[in-house]
Amino acid sequence: MTDLSALILDRIRDVPDYPKPGVLFKDISPLLADHAAFAAVVDEVAGWRPADKIVGIEARGFILAAPVAYRAGAGFVPVRKKGKLPSETLEESYDLEYGSATIEVHRDAFDEGDRVLIVDDVLATGGTAEATVELVRRAGAEVVGVAMLMELAFLKGRERLKEVDLRSLVIV
Ligand code: AMP
Repeated sequence: MTDLSALILDRIRDVPDYPKPGVLFKDISPLLADHAAFAAVVDEVAGWRPADKIVGIEARGFILAAPVAYRAGAGFVPVRKKGKLPSETLEESYDLEYGSATIEVHRDAFDEGDRVLIVDDVLATGGTAEATVELVRRAGAEVVGVAMLMELAFLKGRERLKEVDLRSLVIV
């Protein structure tokens, strides 16, 4: 394990049974509150792949992706839950354990051929990231990578992202 992986693991708090019984929630608040750890994560992701735009997935993905965009000299693009973006959008729906979810991006968020890096905090089943990849492609841009702070390997999200370059700073 790298020093950075060990630092991240130490700064992510497990909260049992949140938001519902049986879920072990990975709370990144301690990491965000530690300047050195937060900066190390941002620098690592920003230096991974050259990109024109960094996409952050609502909501904790925003917190990570915005400073990555600043550091990388790239633009920031939010992918949000349905109904939150004010202008014309593209949307993508995906299945959850119970029911489904829909996410959106502004139709004009990318320039043709933009290289895009997608950033989020936790990869679980992979449904959110897979739908985000699809949205970015439909909007005319190229996905150069998906960067996750933490990957929950037992949920096999990686199998839904076989066609993209996926990097998780910590895999548990
Ligand atoms: P999934 O689509 O199943 O990969 O879920 C990924 C999204 O849900 C990410 O935006 C995560 O922030 C959030 N998420 C899923 N599981 C967890 C967890 N155990 N702890 C924290 N966030 C989670």
